[in-house]
Amino acid sequence: MGTRKTIQTQVLIIGAGATGTGVMRDLALRGVHCALVDRSDVNAGASGGNHGLLHSGGRYVSNDAHAAAECREEGDILKKLAPQCVDETGGYFSAVAGDDENFIADFKSHCEKCGIDCTEVDPAEAREQEPHLAEDTIAVYEVPDASVDPFKLSLENVAHAKLVNNSKYLRHTEVVRFEIENGRIRAAICRDTDSGEELRIEAEQYVNAAGAWAASVAAQAGASVDMLYSRGTLLVTQERLSSRVINRLRPPSDGDILVPGGTVSILGTTSVRVDDPADARPTVEEVDRNVEQGWPMMPILAHTRYIRAYAGVRPLVLVGDGEGDGRSVSRDFSLFDHEDANLSNFCTITGGKLTTYRVMAERCSDLVASRLGVSAPCLTATEPLATVNACEWTEPGRAPKIWARNPDADDPILCECEMVPASAIDEIMNDCSEFIPDPGLQALGLRSRIGKGSCQGSFCGMRIAAHLYDTGRFDSPGGLKNMQGFFAQRFKGLRPVLWETQLVQAELAEALHCGLLGLEQIEGEDD
Ligand SMILES: Cc1cc2nc3c(=O)[nH]c(=O)nc-3n(C[C@H](O)[C@H](O)[C@H](O)COP(=O)(O)OP(=O)(O)OC[C@H]3O[C@@H](n4cnc5c(N)ncnc54)[C@H](O)[C@@H]3O)c2cc1C
Repeated sequence: MGTRKTIQTQVLIIGAGATGTGVMRDLALRGVHCALVDRSDVNAGASGGNHGLLHSGGRYVSNDAHAAAECREEGDILKKLAPQCVDETGGYFSAVAGDDENFIADFKSHCEKCGIDCTEVDPAEAREQEPHLAEDTIAVYEVPDASVDPFKLSLENVAHAKLVNNSKYLRHTEVVRFEIENGRIRAAICRDTDSGEELRIEAEQYVNAAGAWAASVAAQAGASVDMLYSRGTLLVTQERLSSRVINRLRPPSDGDILVPGGTVSILGTTSVRVDDPADARPTVEEVDRNVEQGWPMMPILAHTRYIRAYAGVRPLVLVGDGEGDGRSVSRDFSLFDHEDANLSNFCTITGGKLTTYRVMAERCSDLVASRLGVSAPCLTATEPLATVNACEWTEPGRAPKIWARNPDADDPILCECEMVPASAIDEIMNDCSEFIPDPGLQALGLRSRIGKGSCQGSFCGMRIAAHLYDTGRFDSPGGLKNMQGFFAQRFKGLRPVLWETQLVQAELAEALHCGLLGLEQIEGEDD
């Protein structure tokens, strides 16, 4: 066992997904100091493996009116207060010949009951707006769907909390057990997943926001949360195929939503029950299923170039018998105060959706604040989310715009697909150096667009590693190991889409990484 340091805070939040980062900002705005830990890094769970759809609620109107109305309310708040994270694309629900006519006929009135704006659009007009819609489109409704950048959202929540009251974020810090005395948690014992050193965090209150791992974190405190896990696989296209979010107008199923995300589109998603929340590897079968189910709605999906697949595991709170693939299980969120486990300073917030993360954080923070005797109200429904320069680099298409405005020959482009210059890498490094003593390509990848283009990191990975060597951030062989971990992570998502051009690209990447760098010969790192 390594050296044990102790830090103190008012509230320890476990899990840096949208929910945990949302709780951090909410509490900071109420004047409460927090420490947020993640065993990996920001958005390592479902918050980094989702569709990025800011639901208007239309998806849920037929089977869950409460969830639909909640999405509408929360979507409106985010559009107003965090516009830098949202692309107000609008959305179509479109049906093709053979789709369920009763479902089509009821959609508009269901939307109206949930307060969601819904306008019928003539299919021919819709096809003028979105030329890739199928020729046999028979009905289209327009709703206020949008797309949201979950990385920017979580990073800005963390940055805002730090700005407000110097709340702390510690990545690679895993809670492994609790010390409990007289019905209160006295300390959380954490392990630094890089060095193995132990860290003791003493807090007045502890929040479990560990997403699909909420049950195991609760169990460490002797509390129980019943959950089930549903994996969804998604596909990234090389280019943006629609201006709007395109949903299939039918009961929720596989491959029936296409969400534009900046310069690309994301097709998904499947829903497969898994036993282990860590089982987030996209599979070839699920990739095939998305494509087969997606192309009747938009035929181009049958032959477009897919540059990557990825998967996330939904944290679903088990209500009833939990039968089915996970779509039938409630998407509501749950807040557990754990008083039934005789604990007065521990709670769990899980379930829900990315779209509803803010209200989840609000409910959780209300409980924590009242336990701390803090009467300051929640401000996240009225206070704009502050924008932080270093978080700008997550936005698709932003780097080329900034670079083109002021091209600088001394500032080389390191990522050509997304046009990320060396100065952007330095800016991100400086911004996060406080909690990233050992920066690497993965940390940069989640804070910028590097590795996201069609080369999937093949070239920029090498150039940025060279830059990190030049600037003294990498040493040998640490940098090589880090590169190997980065490429392995990208390959996880490339493997299920290896056909046609993407296969050629992967062959070239392998030649570079093995033939030139000999990366297959060095012992890998875990990250
Ligand atoms: C395929 C898919 C598509 C989806 N699409 C959408 C969508 O389009 N729109 C939408 O609104 N919602 C969507 N969702 C739902 C949404 O992604 C999740 O509800 C939301 O991201 C959950 O966030 P979270 O912060 O609660 O959990 P997570 O994001 O999973 O965060 C939990 C964090 O806890 C950390 N952790 C776990 N154990 C420990 C420990 N012991 N110590 C320290 N840290 C720990 C993990 O590393 C992780 O980062 C989708 C989900 C999936 C899976």
